[in-house]
Parts: sequence; structure tokens; C-alpha cells
Amino acid sequence: MKCEIIAIGSELLTPWRQDTNSLYLTERLNEIGVVVAFKTIVGDRRKDLAAAIRTALGRTDIVITMGGLGPTEDDLTREAWADVLGTKLKRDADIVGQLYARAAQRRWTLTENNLKQADMLEGAEVLENPHGTAPGQWLDTVFAGHRKLGMLLPGPPREIKPMFDQQCMPRLRAVLPVRHIATRTLKAAMIGESLCDSRIAPIYTQYPDVETTILAGAGDIQITLMCRHPRKEHAEARVHELASRIEDELDDFVYSSQGEGLEQIVLYYLEMRGATLSVAESCTGGMLAQRLTSVSGSSRSFLGGAVVYSNELKTEFAGVPEELIEMRGAVSREVAAALAEGIRRRCSSTYGVGITGIAGPTGGTEEKPVGLVYIALSDGVQTEVVEKNFAGDRERVRFYATQQALDMVRRRLM
Ligand code: ATP
Ligand code: MG
Repeated sequence: MKCEIIAIGSELLTPWRQDTNSLYLTERLNEIGVVVAFKTIVGDRRKDLAAAIRTALGRTDIVITMGGLGPTEDDLTREAWADVLGTKLKRDADIVGQLYARAAQRRWTLTENNLKQADMLEGAEVLENPHGTAPGQWLDTVFAGHRKLGMLLPGPPREIKPMFDQQCMPRLRAVLPVRHIATRTLKAAMIGESLCDSRIAPIYTQYPDVETTILAGAGDIQITLMCRHPRKEHAEARVHELASRIEDELDDFVYSSQGEGLEQIVLYYLEMRGATLSVAESCTGGMLAQRLTSVSGSSRSFLGGAVVYSNELKTEFAGVPEELIEMRGAVSREVAAALAEGIRRRCSSTYGVGITGIAGPTGGTEEKPVGLVYIALSDGVQTEVVEKNFAGDRERVRFYATQQALDMVRRRLM
């Protein structure tokens, strides 16, 4: 079953307001096996609205409009639907009664334009709106010889969400064939999107019944698998099989198979080994510590550390020899190693991480360009240093550096 969601409102075509309702509806629709094939945003003009609704009815089975059900001149959704379906609107006496009752209760005077909220499409069912005045409408109709489901829902998020959950979802469930959905999210660190895809595409293309989505972030790739099937066991087995094959192919790049974040996984491994971690951060300014401490319970294995931006503090807090900084420069392999070793000693942790680099956009030189970062990991016996040239803006370089550091700790613990 394919669905189109139409967000109505001229404000949604300005730079200041976004259609967020459709994200919510999409999640709920996916749960019952409905695919959102198109999303359209259209301003409050009757002709444009009608054109959007007509197009949607022509290409999908379920058409949902959101907004434009209010009492004002620019609320034209009902009229546009009637234009497309070639029917007239009928004023519903019950709704008129409710509008008067609600107005009386709140001591409002009801003006004539308010009554248009009681105009119903022929054959439509009323969707009550306990959080607003304009009721919604549910339509089960025939358009150009095909059965279509239509929904006219209000725009305000606090009205549409309960209306959709409580009144549309049960109706949809009753009409649609039963579908179970199995999903799985795999995450991989420090592998490029194109390399990742070139390795797994030959596998997932063999599973046309499993929808595979790849989302790439800085040093992080999320692969989501989803299968819909009348039989729950079948859907789960298909997702499980594909996930296992992808994990085998990507091997140790995959750090999580249930959607956990990299920091969660690192803390989990540390705790399992009874190990602790401390960090000395220069160019990341505490971002690594921030990521680690965002996980509840992190205090069991993350001890803390220092933000050592200036050379003096690198020496004072992490024991980096002044001469070393003078000789090699603050951004160097040697200083990164000294940071990791120094903070480890200072904090008495099992592992120490040191990060130093040039986040940009200023401060780069020919020899040490923007994006150059050294990340070191020490366990007191051995110190590993990785040199990276990250592309992107300041935030991206900094995030990449923390991602690399976390991945090094993960690999050491694996
Ligand atoms: P109603 O059907 O309840 O009359 P409306 O379109 O007439 O809806 P508006 O006054 O235009 O209501 O919008 C009410 C609020 O809801 C506004 O803040 C608007 O930005 C917000 N809104 C409308 N549509 C959406 C959407 N698709 N996503 C998020 N917010 C929305
Ligand atoms: Mg509107």
C-alpha cells in the first residue's frame, strides 16, 4: 500500500516553518506496512491544493492532507477535496451543535466563518478533535475506478497526533492486510560510505524484500534493514539472515547490531574488562569526554581527564615535556603519545587517550594543514598513534577525531 502525505500551509513554504507532522505519520504508517511514496508541501491556494490532491489520488492508495481545516479564508482543504471528487460539501448539524456548545463553554461568539468547520465531504466519517475545533474527516471512496482512502487532518501537531493515533490507525489496521515488520540497525565506524556500499550492495541487492537504508555521518555509518511480511517469523528470519551476511562482510568495522552508539559500546567493553579510561583533549576541547559522559552509568569506567588547549596545560596537566612541544610542535605524533601516556599516569586509568590537531578553518600550514589530527591510545606498555587528515569544517574534524579515538579504544578491547 502506497501513501502520499500532503502538508498544507503557506507558512510551510517559508524558511521559518517546517513540516514535521509527516515525520510522525511516516513512522506510524511504516509500523503497519504502509510505504510513504510521496510527500508534498503546498500553500493555501485552492487551485494548487486541488492539483496536489488530484495528483496524489492518481498515484497512491492512501492520501493524507494535514492542515487547512480551520475557520479562516485560507483554510480551503475541504473545498479542494470536494473540487477533486466532484462532490458538494454538506454542513453537518451535529458538528454545528458541537461548535456552538464549545463556543458557549468558552464564552466565544461564533462567527459565520466558524461554521464551515462543520462542512463534510459526501460519505466521509467525522474524526473527533478533542484538542481543537476543526474535526478531521475519514474517506473511503472510489477515484477513477480505484478504491482510495483519504484523510483530512488538522495542522497543529498537538491535534493531529492524537487524532491519527486514536482514530486513523485503528481504521487503517481494520482495512489493511496484516503485515509484520522486522527491523535491524547495524552501525559501522571509520569506513567510507562508498567503500561500505560497494562491499555490501552485492549482498543486499539479493534481498529485494528487505528494504536497506544507508545513512552516513562523520566516521559513522548506519545500515537499517526492514522487512514486511504477513508472517512474523518470516520477516524476522529474512532480516536476521541479511544482517549476518553484512556483518560477516564488514567484519570488525561493525560495532553494533542493535543500534547502540559507539560510546555506549566502548563503555560496555571497558566495564566487561574491568578497565578504566581517561582522556587529554586539545583540539576536541572536551567533546570526547562529553560523548562518553552522555551515557548513563559511564562513571563506572570513564574517570575523566583534561582539556589541554594551551601548551602550558599540556605540560602541567598531562606531563608533556616542554622540550618535546618545542621540538615537535603541539600538533605532532610525539605530543599525542605523551598526552595519552601522561593523562593515563595522572589519572591512574587502564587506558589513556590523547588528541591533538588542527580543527580549522584557521591555523593550518603547508606542513600541518587543517584537518590534521593525531590520536593516541596508551595502556602503559604500548602507545599507538594514528595520523589522520579529516576533511570538512571545524565541527566535522572535531567529531571525526573523537570517533577515531573511540574506535581505537573499541578495537583494542575487542
Ligand atoms: P487546522 O486544520 O487545525 O485549521 P491549519 O492549517 O488551519 O490547521 P494553521 O493555523 O495554519 O492551522 O497552523 C497551526 C499551526 O500548526 C501552525 O503553527 C503551523 O505552523 C502548524 N503546522 C501546520 N502544518 C504543520 C506541519 N505539517 N508540520 C508541523 N507543523 C504544522
Ligand atoms: Mg494552515
